[in-house]
Amino acid sequence: MINRSLFEDTRTAFTLKSDSELERAYFLFKMISSEPLVRIGTVATNFALKAHLPVEKLIRATVFDHFCGGVSEEDCLPVIDKLYTEGVSSVLDYSVEGKAQENQFDNALEKILKIIHFCDDREAMPIVVFKPSGFGRFLLYQKKTEGVELTIEEEAEWQRIVNRFDKVCKLAKEKDVEVLIDGEESWMQDAADDLVEEMMCRYNKEVTIVYNTLQLYRWDRLKYLKDLHQRAEGKGFKIGMKIVRGAYMEKERERAIEKGYESPICENKKTTDDNFNDTLNYILNNLNDISVFIGTHNEASCLLAMELMEVNNISKEDNNVWFGQLYGMSDHISFNLAAQGYNVAKYIPFGPVKDVMPYLIRRAEENTSVAGQTSRELTLLKAERLRRKL
Ligand SMILES: Cc1cc2nc3c(=O)[nH]c(=O)nc-3n(C[C@H](O)[C@H](O)[C@H](O)COP(=O)(O)OP(=O)(O)OC[C@H]3O[C@@H](n4cnc5c(N)ncnc54)[C@H](O)[C@@H]3O)c2cc1C
Repeated sequence: MINRSLFEDTRTAFTLKSDSELERAYFLFKMISSEPLVRIGTVATNFALKAHLPVEKLIRATVFDHFCGGVSEEDCLPVIDKLYTEGVSSVLDYSVEGKAQENQFDNALEKILKIIHFCDDREAMPIVVFKPSGFGRFLLYQKKTEGVELTIEEEAEWQRIVNRFDKVCKLAKEKDVEVLIDGEESWMQDAADDLVEEMMCRYNKEVTIVYNTLQLYRWDRLKYLKDLHQRAEGKGFKIGMKIVRGAYMEKERERAIEKGYESPICENKKTTDDNFNDTLNYILNNLNDISVFIGTHNEASCLLAMELMEVNNISKEDNNVWFGQLYGMSDHISFNLAAQGYNVAKYIPFGPVKDVMPYLIRRAEENTSVAGQTSRELTLLKAERLRRKL
């Protein structure tokens, strides 16, 4: 039987937080819950960094250290080791975004390859992650997705992207490290999907190494998965899927209106939730063919996954099922799941303070806009403070 109040256990949730870290988390989420404060803070921080004011230390001691592991892989090691003492694994996420030059894509490639080597023999790090747009120009993925013919130069550029994907997946296979490939905007995603499928076909013959992402706020994704499943059976490869709800909803809807096409997004939250849960069900019924990384902060979806695993006789430590949350958020889910013996990993963003600012700003904005999440964090932190006092 699943304990439905599992996620209320704040002692387990915050077991790694000292009293002062608990206070800092409370203070941070309190700040983040205020939209005007986030707006002012964002402008002031961007200005201060551009003007080379000495704010890095302050950022590091507050928001950075809460949501990020460090400025480099080595710097993240204490966090990785600490999480693993409670059975929570780490997925290092090099969070430097918005790069668009070939040398920057090569640097990103080198970074991921280095992380795979770094994972070698580190039990706490079984998985790596990258974003398709980290390895090539967004516009090129878009052109491919739209079926626009590429110039000779662009064909060569695309081939370089294919090579970058291949290098990562090949090394990951050699080192037995799993690779998650993030999902992005729908108008570039088909090209990424085709490429990831090629990688799965090449490297997922016996076990699942390569994982694509399904964004289930898109109403067409379950059908996509079922079609892929048929192709995979035909060609004899295993599917890896991270399932998430999706992070670009506003952008997707605005673009669909602007360009006059049907929105790819489910019409409301309930439809997204149903789509997510139906997909989860489909996968857990086909676990021989599909491995899953459940990337969510939604308690109901996690409870459902636990129930479906029980019904389908899937053991908690089955390597084909992973749960994942972002570092600094939803510890009540991660640590309680890990304490029960499930496979759990935290996405740990890292990179130079200045370069991860866009990521941190998005986290802050998301926490003001994702109804309920910040207030839930605050309620849990408050409960734990009270528990410790008593
Ligand atoms: C480990 C991890 C990896 C991730 N990787 C990716 C990734 O590769 N690509 C990506 O896009 N996102 C990614 N995300 C972010 C994710 O897509 C969600 O934005 C975020 O997790 C919030 O959704 P939730 O399931 O946690 O919870 P909830 O709070 O229950 O759901 C919020 C989500 O529901 C959807 N939603 C909200 N309102 C509506 C509405 N009115 N109509 C339709 N849908 C609605 C939106 O997707 C929104 O983000 C990742 C998240 C995690 C934890």
